[in-house]
Amino acid sequence: MLNQVRIVLIETSHGGNIGAVARAMKNMGLSELALVRPCDHLSGQAVARASGADDLLRAAQVYDTLDDALVGCQLVIGASARLRKVRWPQLDPRQCAQKVAAEAGAGRRVALLFGRERTGLTNAELDLCHYLVHIPANPEYSSLNLAMAVQVIAYELRMAEVQPQQPGREPAPVEAFEGFMEHLTEALYDIGYLDERNPEKLLRRLRRLFHRAELDQHEINILRGILNAAQGNKRRSGQGRELWQRRIRGNR
Ligand code: SAH
Repeated sequence: MLNQVRIVLIETSHGGNIGAVARAMKNMGLSELALVRPCDHLSGQAVARASGADDLLRAAQVYDTLDDALVGCQLVIGASARLRKVRWPQLDPRQCAQKVAAEAGAGRRVALLFGRERTGLTNAELDLCHYLVHIPANPEYSSLNLAMAVQVIAYELRMAEVQPQQPGREPAPVEAFEGFMEHLTEALYDIGYLDERNPEKLLRRLRRLFHRAELDQHEINILRGILNAAQGNKRRSGQGRELWQRRIRGNR
């Protein structure tokens, strides 16, 4: 997904910022940098701020016009330090990342546009954008340094990319969870932790705790194995089950 994303900087006036953008991009796994009428982007300061990301800096494409820099891009999102009137649909960085992940995931090319240090993006430049992304900063001081704005947005892109790739944990279905809760109730009863008086409150708290964990089947199997061991692998007393059925099922 990150390969489909081009970062476009317009008329950046400070080489150090371009270098810092390259670094922020490389940290987050972005690699395509396009510069429209930049200052000297290979100055000593630029290279120094890029640190180990000077390869990105050297590979950056330089364009005379924004239109040229956007050729081939199917979704354009402009980063704006100011909240604009309703003319442009606005996203926060997380929504922006979701949008980009969806488009890039479908193989589309995406451009993220960043404006000048002093004046940001012009209205004509905003007109090329399908969406604006605004980092919700302190409203009295909302303009971030260019490279820091790139950093925040690139981080969200990375999070959006990384999350779906985490090895697919499938939460167990309701019946497996309920079977576990039933077993837990029995076991707590068998080991003398629960008594007849008022187990519902505790069981409900435990239920909330385990729901939060979004247990998968394998984890449920482990927990039930522990319960079996705690019960001493004895034949279950049956009293716990009775309690469960009467108090918990009856309430639903
Ligand atoms: N003074 C300018 C801001 C320039 S900051 C203005 O008022 O528009 C340079 C660039 O960093 C901006 O054009 C924008 O692309 C990005 N940027 C800075 N702060 C941002 C924020 N809060 N949200 C989104 N982008 C931001």
